[in-house]
Amino acid sequence: MDTANSGAGGAPASREPRPFVGINFTCCNVYRRIYKNRAGDAYEGSCPKCLKKVKLMIGAGGTSNRFFDAK
Ligand SMILES: [Zn+2]
Repeated sequence: MDTANSGAGGAPASREPRPFVGINFTCCNVYRRIYKNRAGDAYEGSCPKCLKKVKLMIGAGGTSNRFFDAK
């Protein structure tokens, strides 16, 4: 674990891929990735067609799945 550069700027290191989950928006039958928010406590995004927002909590009471259906 390399933590030497953590806590410096605020922007995550570019070598660190942004975590995301795949979500299937059943409202419009479209698949999309949504990304972790700044707080790091949820994945947030919106349907590309109808712009319905989704928020998936991470951790306690949340989910550890990687793929979802938005209803
Ligand atoms: Zn939609």
